[in-house]
Amino acid sequence: MLVTRIKNEAELKEAFSGRTLAISCHGCREVFFPEDQVEKALNQYRNCLVGAASLDYLCREDFSQVYLQKMENLITQSSRVVIFSCGVGVQVWAKLLPGKIVLAGCNSFNINGFQGLTPTRWNCHQCGECWLNTTAAICPLTACSKGLLNGPCGGAKNGKCEVHPSVDCGWHLIYERTQATGQKFLPAQKVAVRDYRRLVTGTTTREG
Ligand code: SF4
Ligand code: SF4
Repeated sequence: MLVTRIKNEAELKEAFSGRTLAISCHGCREVFFPEDQVEKALNQYRNCLVGAASLDYLCREDFSQVYLQKMENLITQSSRVVIFSCGVGVQVWAKLLPGKIVLAGCNSFNINGFQGLTPTRWNCHQCGECWLNTTAAICPLTACSKGLLNGPCGGAKNGKCEVHPSVDCGWHLIYERTQATGQKFLPAQKVAVRDYRRLVTGTTTREG
């Protein structure tokens, strides 16, 4: 099971630094969704918004495809789409919007208890400090065989991973997507040290 928490003020400010379409996922709200905080952020950054919507189950690609068809105009008007959901929802929308900047408004945390299919089938390890905003919405922990956060290991050949040659190198995919969206490639940016305490919410010491 996972929960989401809204990102901190500095990250939200960066996310809303352009014409923004903001989408909130209410699919797992019975577990927890920071509804009031998202509402507050949308109000704070209302001048940047071209639109906002609350939708169910962004992690479902078939649902999201239908949502996107209905929002074509808003997508065109926006320079970025900020998604308030777990890391899976953000990545589904990024996949469906290959040339658009897609950003996470939340961090996803693991909580103890029944995990269901989430950790085995989906591309989010609930690390508690979502990196998608610096990796063009492709999770480095799940897309890279070594879970590297600060760039490729250098072992990829023809875009394939040196650990699993049948799969794409996650960092190659991240690079390709930054080229498509016009985002900076991570090694050119500041990378923080990973906070492993965030893996379990009960021992998390920082908010955001
Ligand atoms: S960086 Fe990956 S594992 Fe961490 S919250 Fe984001 S999608 Fe999930
Ligand atoms: S080749 Fe790419 S995906 Fe494989 S371990 Fe190295 S950086 Fe990660």
